[in-house]
Amino acid sequence: MIDYHCHTKFCRHATGTMNEYVERAKKLGLSGMGFSDHFPMVFLRRFFKPEEINDVPLEDYSMTPEEVPTYLQMVKTLQARFTTPGFEIKLGFELDYVRDQDAQIKSLITPHVADLDYIYGSIHFLYVKGRVFPFDDSRFKKIYDSVSIDDLHVLYFESLNKMVKSGIYDIVAHFDLLKKFNIRPLKRSNYETLVEESLSEIARSGMALELNTAGLRKPVNEFYPEDFILEICLEKKIPIVLGSDAHNPEEVGHEFKSAQSLLLKLGFTSTVNFKKRKQVLINLID
Ligand SMILES: [Zn+2]
Ligand SMILES: [Zn+2]
Repeated sequence: MIDYHCHTKFCRHATGTMNEYVERAKKLGLSGMGFSDHFPMVFLRRFFKPEEINDVPLEDYSMTPEEVPTYLQMVKTLQARFTTPGFEIKLGFELDYVRDQDAQIKSLITPHVADLDYIYGSIHFLYVKGRVFPFDDSRFKKIYDSVSIDDLHVLYFESLNKMVKSGIYDIVAHFDLLKKFNIRPLKRSNYETLVEESLSEIARSGMALELNTAGLRKPVNEFYPEDFILEICLEKKIPIVLGSDAHNPEEVGHEFKSAQSLLLKLGFTSTVNFKKRKQVLINLID
C-alpha cells in the first residue's frame, strides 16, 4: 500500500521532518509514500476582492510560492536516498480549486507539472454570501449556523464538478470533506443525487478518488468518503488511492489496515499507482 497524502512543515500546520515521514512509512511496511503538500494558497487573493477574503488566514495553510523549489528539491533528495525495489517516494501537490479560476490555477501549476507524480484536487473554500469560507477550519465553524448544510453541499458539488472537468487534477481528495464536523445533509436523497452526478463526472474524467483515513481523527469519526460512495466508485470503475492526510509522522499510514479491509469487503481488488501522472492498477493485497 502507498500513502499518497502526506504534508510537511512547509504548510505551517504540520510537524516533523520529511525524513521522519519516510522512516515511518518504511517502518509500517508500506510499499511507498507520497508527499502532497498544500500548493501555495496566497494566490487565492487574486480571485477575490480584499473584503471577501481578508479574514482567511491563508498563510497558515500552505507553503509560500518562494518555497516551492525547495520543497520539490527536498522530495527529490529523499527519493534518491530512500528508493529501493520495495519502496518508492512520490512527489505531488494538493492543489486547491476555486470555481471558475481554471485558467489561473492551470498557469500556476503548469511550470511544475513535469516534476509531479500526481496532483490532488481539493475544495477547502466555498464562496458564501459574498465571503470566502474555509469550511474545514474549525475557527470558521460558526458559518454552519447561518447557511443550511444542504445549500453548502450544492455549492460544494458545483465547485467539485468544475474541478473534475478542469482537467488539471489526477485525484479527488477527501470527496465528502463537508461532513468533517459531523454536520450532515438534511435532505438525504438530494445529497445522494449530488454524489451520484459528481461520481459520474469523475468516472468520465478518468480521475482517481481518495479513500482518506483522516476523517477518523475528526469529529465525524469515519473515513472520507462513506461506504455508499465507495460502492458507487466500484460500480463506475473509479480507481482508488489511499491517503492518511498525515500532518505529523505518526499519522502516516493511519488506519490503512482497516481501509484495506473495507475495500476488500466492498469488493475492490486493486488500487492505483501514479507515476509521472500515469495510472497503473496494483493489487490491493500486495
Ligand atoms: Zn493541511
Ligand atoms: Zn485537504
